[in-house]
Amino acid sequence: MSKIKNYNAELMLLEEKIKASENIIIVPHYNPDGDAIGSALALCLVLKNAGKNAKVISPTQYPSFLFWMPGRNYLTVLGKKTDSNHNIFKDADLLIGVDFNALNRIKNVEDRFNDSTAFKVLIDHHPNPDNFTDLLFSETEYCSTAGLLYEIIENTYLKAFIDKDVATCLYVGIMTDTGSFSFNSSNPNTFRIVAELLKYGVEKDIVFDRVYNSFSEDRMRFMGHVMLNRMVLFPELKTGYIYITAEDRKVFKEKFGDTENFVNIPLSVKGIVFSAIFIERDNFVKISFRSKGDFSVNDFSSKHFNGGGHINAAGGESYKTLQETCKKFVSVLDEYANVLKNYKY
Ligand code: 5GP
Ligand code: MN
Repeated sequence: MSKIKNYNAELMLLEEKIKASENIIIVPHYNPDGDAIGSALALCLVLKNAGKNAKVISPTQYPSFLFWMPGRNYLTVLGKKTDSNHNIFKDADLLIGVDFNALNRIKNVEDRFNDSTAFKVLIDHHPNPDNFTDLLFSETEYCSTAGLLYEIIENTYLKAFIDKDVATCLYVGIMTDTGSFSFNSSNPNTFRIVAELLKYGVEKDIVFDRVYNSFSEDRMRFMGHVMLNRMVLFPELKTGYIYITAEDRKVFKEKFGDTENFVNIPLSVKGIVFSAIFIERDNFVKISFRSKGDFSVNDFSSKHFNGGGHINAAGGESYKTLQETCKKFVSVLDEYANVLKNYKY
């Protein structure tokens, strides 16, 4: 159910700070996903509609399946080599972080965010947020930051400024963070929020098509290769993983975002409840974990792979080689053999 009533004091303070601010900057996490970008753009657009000077600064590039999003012209993507002396937040009265729970999740702008004298707000749905803002809206109960953000907007004067574009951005956040309502979406409040958004004219079928049916031929063949040649299953342990080499990425002309959702592939095999992907990047191995039920990949990742996230979706990193990383995973898996063998879902 909705948790927004617990935030009356915070909502009043947020409204006061927004009204008193001229320049507002919104920051999603690095490598932003549909929820981070959808939430950031929705907030930017609703603030613009309310007459504020708002913009989004993304630490790194966002995936091409979101290039059509309303409000994208108000979004600046920083390159990895931004001048560290350049104060990108210098004009901001108000800084609002969306969809992250720790400063290191905004990587290349971490210091500048922290050093800014602007009033800082965080809106997020990850567990255990760090204390680095003046005002915090954090509820794991919500399927997405976008869902929580809708209720924040709904309960302030900004509600009058929601339009179809704002609603579309919020819908993208909710749709992508629930895998199009296939997980994390049993809370009836999620569907109440969606019903409200649809009233603003969101074209949900078209949004789905733009986000999920926008792959290049190379990406589809890449997925075929991965399923055929790069998936390792341990049916006894109800676990599967995928590994992708740098060579694979080259052969299939990988574009940013192409490997998004590959991690879910093993979970489509009957009986598999825990899956991982290891992608050989330039200086490290990018890792994602997914699970079904109450096996916490957040705990698994923070314990063994320098990462974190949610109970059923987490990321991590390894600075070993791809082969060593996979080997480590398999040996760590041994410690969970009993839990996984007897796991009921
Ligand atoms: P992904 O596998 O898509 O990178 O991440 C899955 C989820 O975990 C996302 O919600 C993402 O924000 C979060 N996540 C990914 N990597 C990390 C990490 O290193 N630390 C934390 N705290 N969260 C992460
Ligand atoms: Mn999210």
